Formats: sequence, C-alpha cells, structure tokens
Amino acid sequence: MDMKCKLLVIGAGPGGYVAAIRAGQLGLDTIIVEGDRAGGTCLIRGCIPSKALIHAADKYQQMARHTGKGHLGIRLAAKPELDFAATINWKDGIVDRLNGGVEGLLKKAGVKQVKGWAKFKNAKTCDVETGDGTVTITAEHVILANGSKAAELPFLPFGGDVISSTEALCLTEVPENLVVVGAGYIGLELGIAYGKLGAKVTFIEAEERILATYDNELTAPVRKWLKNHNIKTHLKARASGFKDNILSYTDRDGAEQTIAADKLLVTVGRKANTEGWGLENMAVDMDGGFIKIDKYCRTSMKNVWAIGDITGEPMLAHRASAQGETVAEIIAGKKREFTPNAIAAVCFTDPEIIAVGISAEQAKADGIETIVGKFPLMANGRALTMEAGEGFVRVTARADNHVIIGIHGVGPHISELSGEFALALEMGARLEDIADTIHVHPTIAESFAESALATLGHAIHI
Ligand code: FAD
Repeated sequence: MDMKCKLLVIGAGPGGYVAAIRAGQLGLDTIIVEGDRAGGTCLIRGCIPSKALIHAADKYQQMARHTGKGHLGIRLAAKPELDFAATINWKDGIVDRLNGGVEGLLKKAGVKQVKGWAKFKNAKTCDVETGDGTVTITAEHVILANGSKAAELPFLPFGGDVISSTEALCLTEVPENLVVVGAGYIGLELGIAYGKLGAKVTFIEAEERILATYDNELTAPVRKWLKNHNIKTHLKARASGFKDNILSYTDRDGAEQTIAADKLLVTVGRKANTEGWGLENMAVDMDGGFIKIDKYCRTSMKNVWAIGDITGEPMLAHRASAQGETVAEIIAGKKREFTPNAIAAVCFTDPEIIAVGISAEQAKADGIETIVGKFPLMANGRALTMEAGEGFVRVTARADNHVIIGIHGVGPHISELSGEFALALEMGARLEDIADTIHVHPTIAESFAESALATLGHAIHI
C-alpha cells in the first residue's frame, strides 16, 4: 500500500508523539510510525516505570521503618510483605494506561498511526512492514524522533543476568545481590530503589565521583544516604568481565577484584538509535553519534528534521517534547526556534537532585562574576514536617544585575520545584523578583525565595 502525507514522524516517544499531536492540532496531514509501543523509552521503559518502581520501593522502606519500635508514633505489628511480581504488575498497569492515552490523543488530533519499523529508501520515503503488509510512505516533511537505547559494554553484553535498565524494570524477583556498573542517574535511581526493596546493592564506577556531571556539594546528601544504607560504591573502578555470576573489576589501585552478582545492571549511558533503518540513505550530517541539527531542529537535508535523544544531550523527555512542539509549529508556518534559556535536569535519587542553568564555577569559566546564596531545607518548616530536612536550594546570579543564571537543589521532593526554577530562568528573573514573590507557607518552595534572599545577603530564617 502507498501512503502520502504532509508530515511523517518516525518514533512515538515523547519527542515524536508530541510533534505529531501538535501537527494534527494545526491541521497538518500527519502520519506517525512506531515499531514498538506508543510512548517510547520514556513511558514504556524509562521515566514513568522507573518512577513507579522508585515510589513503590520508597513506600516499602517507609513502612518497614514503622515496625518494631515504630516511627512518628505509628507502629506496625509486623514487617510489610513484598509481592514484587504484583508491584511490577501495578507498574505495568500505569504504563498500559499511558500507552493507551498516547494512542487516544494521537487519534483525537487526527494523526494516522502506522505500526511497524520504518526503513528509509531516501530522505522522504520509507517502507514499513506492518501486520497487513508493506506500507510505503512518502512525505513532504519528515521528523526523525527515533530516540536512544542503553549503551552496551563489549565485554559485558546484555543477556542472561547482565541486564539494562529495560530488564531492571521488569524483574519479577528482587535480586539478592545487585551490582550496578555505572553510577550515573539511571543506575543510581534503580540501584537505590532495589536497595530499598531489600537487595544488597554495590556500584562500580569508573569516575572519581558518583553523578559526575553534578558538583560535589549537590551529590553529598546522596553519598551520605548510600553510606547510611550500607550501599558500597567502588570509585575509579573498571568492570572487565562477568562469568558464573561473578563480576571481575580493577579497583582504584589497579588490583583485580571480584564480586558476586545475581543480576548485573549495566548503566553506562545511552546511544542514539541511528542504525538499521536507512539513515545512511537520507544524506543527513552527523555530529559524532548523533544527528546534527540547528536551532530550528533542521538537519542538513531539506525538510528533514530531528528531535529528542537522537540529536544528543541533554537526553531528556521534556527536551524531546519541547523540540517536537517547536518543529510542528515551524512546519505549520509559525515563527519558532528551539533556544531555551535552560533545561532542568532531575535525578530521582534519595534525596532528589535538581540542576537548572549553570553553576558559579561554570560562570567563572565564561568570565561572568557571580554571587551565590544557599538555603538549607533544615530551616524550612514544611520540610521538617515531611522529614525532608536533608538538602538545600542554591541560587547563582550575575553580580552586576542580579539576573539568576543557575538554580541547584538537593532534597526529598525537590523535583517538584523544577517548574518554578525553570520558569525563573526562562523569564530572566532577578533575585529580587523571586525574593519579592510571596511564597505560600508552609511549603518547601519557600526555600527558593529564602535562597534568593540569602544571595542578596539577608535571608530571614538563617
Ligand atoms: P524515545 O523515547 O527513545 O522514543 C523513540 C521511539 O522511536 C521508540 O518508541 C522506538 O521504538 C521508535 N523507533 C525508533 N526507530 C524506529 C523506526 N525505524 N521505525 C519505527 N519506530 C522507531 N528523561 C527524563 O526527562 N526524566 C526522567 O526521569 C527519565 N528517566 C529515565 C529513566 C530510564 C530508566 C531511562 C532509560 C530513560 C529516562 N529518561 C528520562 C530519558 C527519556 O526516556 C528520553 O530522553 C526520552 O524518552 C527521549 O525521547 P525521544 O522521543 O527522543 O525517544
């Protein structure tokens, strides 16, 4: 069968499905092709299932604290019991619901959905093997939103007990010993969750620090949590092989070591999905392992656009979606470009970490003089009532005009402030704008106003 359309979107992850919905809303004749399930990495095997697991693990650990002597005056007579298969079923229910939701939204926007893997013959034509035979689609515009997959180490190929984040989200039993190679945000989020569920977790990390892209001050509360919960992190250590459930690695002194693992979770980064679907037939320029784009998300081939993980860092769902919306509007004739002031990044560790904009150190390298202020959550009433006093909010502003250029925070529930932080940077807020905004009491968000005041030198509650 042959199909023609104005816009063809490849991949129904948060980049592709948002682009297609917006295009449909704008009246563009749009087809979206997805080889797996609508929702992509984010909804099916990433953001959403991992946060479901993190929530369930936290609940289990919190309940366990109430047994014995009790906690907060609340005592449980017996330890909570974990039916992990049921937990995974519950998580799958959320995934199914969101998958159906995305398909429904695409339909409502008038987008045609084709199920199968697209293979490009040239920049504007692809074949899709569907359940009903081959469909050939020709389009005026193409958006590539093929996403990414877990990077593999050649000496630790995925399979059997060597798993990626995808399999880690579908286990039916909590492993007794879980070794995680790579202490970036995905490894830490999953490792901490499994630790809370009762696994003995160990991290093997090649860098000198966990979460190496964040500064030491920000990651300190997470390191403390790991230490307090007997989770070992071997830093400057290099995994080398896995046989009979024993991982070999070289420690920081160059000595060969081994460690037993029922499951070995490898989280050493993500790789763009650039192979196996005819990208080489489209004549688009590359930027390393990613598709090269400009500020309009245009590739080097006319009317071929690329968004999301396939275009590189930051590989985050909200960036992919924002790019998708932008490109759909450009194709519909609107004047748009993708030049955000900042894209917030959150680690859903314990406690959570958030970073928006740049730090004082990065600003110094750019020749910008800054002032920095910090407010501890321990001084925030609401945080104390929620047992969330570990952490802080830190604001970095230009010294000359007080425009805020970076907001960093660590603490339980701090991810919920990410919208306010991003808004402040996107609107070019000054310290005075935030300090003068009356924040509701008692909320953790008051810490943002207080950290702006602290940067101005006159915080009230410290
Ligand atoms: P994807 O979501 O990868 O979607 C691409 C889609 O394209 C896939 O469905 C794929 O099947 C399809 N596809 C590819 N090639 C073809 C083809 N030839 N034909 C048809 N279909 C094709 N990000 C956050 O912002 N917050 C988080 O908390 C977060 N947590 C994460 C946790 C984990 C465990 C993982 C793995 C990732 C997490 N991410 C998170 C990252 C986030 O999932 C990605 O940044 C996001 O999904 C990228 O969206 P995308 O649309 O570019 O690609």
